[in-house]
Amino acid sequence: PNNAGGVGTINNENSATDPKNLRVKLVLLGDSGVGKSCIVLRFVRGQFDPTSKVTVGASFLSQTLALEDSTTVKFEIWDTAGQERYAALAPLYYRGAGAAIVVYDITSPESFNKAQYWVKELQKHGSPDMIMALVGNKADLHDNRSVSSQDAQEYAEKNNMFFIETSAKTADNINQLFEEIAKRLPRPTPS
Ligand code: GDP
Repeated sequence: PNNAGGVGTINNENSATDPKNLRVKLVLLGDSGVGKSCIVLRFVRGQFDPTSKVTVGASFLSQTLALEDSTTVKFEIWDTAGQERYAALAPLYYRGAGAAIVVYDITSPESFNKAQYWVKELQKHGSPDMIMALVGNKADLHDNRSVSSQDAQEYAEKNNMFFIETSAKTADNINQLFEEIAKRLPRPTPS
């Protein structure tokens, strides 16, 4: 597959049940323009490049994160790639996903409404034990904020998600977002 990897990527092929080397399929959801591609690019390549589109169709980007307890988590990141327009592909997109990031733009109430639609979709199609993050991106544009942190936090709690505000532009909270998902993943018991 077209695995772009990234700086600091650790290549290992351990089984999915190795308790020290976890692997998770992560799906991205959210309105077009909220910054999904930029979040992934910031995490995988450590850069912000608004001109580069990394939406990747049937393939995905992957990045391995090392945690303090010496566990590694390999994220297999699926960008929506316009799935919004192909409802029939939804089951394939959600299948096997252990984590989901639902993104909105803190300056856009419409994108927050759309995020709530995606959360419902996830609850319908996704696995019930999926780790779900609600992400308010473009936090650097706080002067134009129109979605309050408190509203988002309350919505997230009601829907069994964790909430974080990020900026792909300044890198604020991007690693924290992925670390938080990694920490919450269920650890397989060694057989
Ligand atoms: P996607 O359609 O959700 O994948 O959105 P993109 O990642 O393509 O980003 C859409 C636009 O938002 C681009 O022009 C980015 O430069 C801009 N953008 C993305 N993240 C941020 C951010 O954190 N802050 C600011 N100010 N702009 C951002």
